[in-house]
Amino acid sequence: MSNDYDVIVIGAGPAGYHAAIRCAQLGFKTACINKMRDKDNKPVLGGTCLNWGCIPSKALLDASHKFHEAQHDFADMGINTGKVSADVPKMIARKQEVVDGLTGGVAALFQGNGVTSLEGSGRLHANCQVAFTPHDGPEQMLQAAHVILAPGSVPVDIPPAPLEDGLIVDSTGALEFTAAPGRLGVIGAGVIGLELGSVWNRLGSDVTVLEALDEFLPMADSRISRDAQRMLKGQGLDIRLGARVTATEVKGRGNKKTVTVTYQDKDGEQQSEFDKLIVAVGRRPYTEGLLAPDSGVNLDERGFLYVNDLCATDAPNVYAVGDVVRGPMLAHKGMEEGVMVAERIAGHKPLVNYDTVPSVIYTHPEIAWVGKTEQQLKADGENYNVGSFPFAANGRALAANETEGMVKLIADADSDRILGVHVLGPQASEMIAQAVISMEFSASAEDLGLIMFAHPTLSEGVHEAALGAAGHAIHMVNRKKPGKK
Ligand code: FAD
Ligand code: NAD
Repeated sequence: MSNDYDVIVIGAGPAGYHAAIRCAQLGFKTACINKMRDKDNKPVLGGTCLNWGCIPSKALLDASHKFHEAQHDFADMGINTGKVSADVPKMIARKQEVVDGLTGGVAALFQGNGVTSLEGSGRLHANCQVAFTPHDGPEQMLQAAHVILAPGSVPVDIPPAPLEDGLIVDSTGALEFTAAPGRLGVIGAGVIGLELGSVWNRLGSDVTVLEALDEFLPMADSRISRDAQRMLKGQGLDIRLGARVTATEVKGRGNKKTVTVTYQDKDGEQQSEFDKLIVAVGRRPYTEGLLAPDSGVNLDERGFLYVNDLCATDAPNVYAVGDVVRGPMLAHKGMEEGVMVAERIAGHKPLVNYDTVPSVIYTHPEIAWVGKTEQQLKADGENYNVGSFPFAANGRALAANETEGMVKLIADADSDRILGVHVLGPQASEMIAQAVISMEFSASAEDLGLIMFAHPTLSEGVHEAALGAAGHAIHMVNRKKPGKK
């Protein structure tokens, strides 16, 4: 039987659409099947990232940050604005314009690269056969030489907090409020809870974040998480740790409804009442309807599609990438996996380096890191040097009135190789790329210290932290006294 396509990709989120475009660039006849539709039922490309994730959340984070700055920070710099007000419906509409521009951009890229876009759902059968069911038509069987699965993830829901339209919402609903709720509860002090909690806090809500764990952001370097927790608290986020939600109760009627949340903390059972509640307790792999019983693809014990280091599944010529496979649920991780698989199908030999996946939390200041945390290295019994540099000692940060936070760089004590970089500060998301590049090239702290950085820039904080690891940062008094050389 001849193939309809060289490659069929299922899912057009960042992992799938990168895979599809790269396959087409490499000369493969490629189709991408995608079932996502927007709230008006229109088929949309770009997956969670473009439609309900990275992009809309950043559009609201940036808008609400500018609003907060105008209200609270401009006067310090000699800018008087008078009363500033937030037009939330306009912010939401602008966010949608940004999303529409980007999802339309993916459609144009598909067209320009010759990717066939198939709107509907895909289901994998044995031997790379894919059942494609268009949104408005009968199922048809397609044969491919290779299949790439990229169906993504969906929010986890928890029995104590079932969603209720407009009142108890997941991250998608929290991007659509048309006014800042008076009292906003958030379950989960993870990435989504902190980012969306920050948005609505800046727009005027009283935000309470209930987090089951006793520790704040345990995946980040503990020095950074401690400082970040203090700063977010200072901004008005009421973060309650060790608070496990056990029940919710909706009270009232119509637009007077409120939700009472019951949670357990060290003092026993507590209750809080909110006007809206966001449930942000993690995401899970989405595989509904994806695999026919004879597909040959297996799941792991947590429900992710099982793949090896090269994203190959247990079925011949079938690969899986993005949130649906092990590793962090991050758009850039899925994008690199998609490109790697496309190039491997073409016989190239790329690898994804999972040791240098950057993480960013887009609060203000931003929190970004790559590599190992100090607590991980300590637990592993490694010998290391630490260089830290506070933005309060950085000229550009002072000029910009953005002095909170620090850069912390950790290097191996023997080889001086950089093991981890942690940034809490303005534009940390941009600065972390310098650390990723350095680590990809196996740089030492000394290498970074010997490189010239433009002055005055926030990036000089990275330079100084690298110098600090050897005990000779210029713009601070070093605790560790180096030798005479
Ligand atoms: P998805 O983006 O989920 O796309 C999967 C696509 O496959 C969807 O279009 C889906 O409809 C389609 N599909 C599923 N099953 C089928 C099927 N059987 N047939 C056809 N189509 C199918 N990550 C970051 O790196 N940075 C951020 O700043 C960031 N912010 C986020 C903010 C929020 C609020 C959320 C929710 C997530 C955020 N993420 C962020 C995570 C990021 O969105 C995901 O890691 C990323 O979208 C995963 O990409 P993916 O391609 O694997 O899956
Ligand atoms: P998360 O895993 O980051 O955080 C969920 C938090 O909820 C955890 O701290 C957990 O302890 C807590 N929790 C779970 N059950 C609870 C309960 N019953 N009561 C109180 N707390 C409870 O998940 P998320 O914030 O939902 O984000 C999901 C994924 O989306 C993440 O994996 C992240 O990688 C991705 N994402 C990334 C970005 C970014 O890169 N900036 C932004 C948003 C989302």
